[in-house]
Amino acid sequence: MHEVYMRAAIEEAKKAEALGEVPIGAVVVKDGKIISRAHNLRETSQNPTTHAELLAIQAASEAVGSFRLEDCTLYVTLEPCVMCSGAIIMSRVPLVVYGAPDPKGGTVDSLMNLLDEPRFNHRAEVVSGVLQEECSAMLKAFFKNLRLKAKQKKNSQPGP
Ligand SMILES: [Zn+2]
Repeated sequence: MHEVYMRAAIEEAKKAEALGEVPIGAVVVKDGKIISRAHNLRETSQNPTTHAELLAIQAASEAVGSFRLEDCTLYVTLEPCVMCSGAIIMSRVPLVVYGAPDPKGGTVDSLMNLLDEPRFNHRAEVVSGVLQEECSAMLKAFFKNLRLKAKQKKNSQPGP
């Protein structure tokens, strides 16, 4: 079942990619229904808080009319960062499912585990590695392409 919703998050990530954004997508599910979908919009918005998870949490709260997302599950293609982990705690999402780990920024498993910190008043369960190959292949391809474009640009500049 997790894979079905992760696929929806991957679809969102592809929308981000189409905009030239790092392909990261998220959905929030309640009672088996997707109540919000979002993708990374950092470049488009030039706003550092427009991560997929944060936007999905905001839209989910709007959909249910509450900041408490106690019966919801958050699906995201990449391990959440420190900001999004904060939003997960504040929204009381009880379950987070992610695809690819983020060794440089993930605060759910990789760098630390903010979602299993007993000093906070909320903790969330985490399921990791759902459709991990697909989620990380998407990111790898994006960054490879970016490097290629940068290289081409450099090569096309007139020499001295
Ligand atoms: Zn984030």
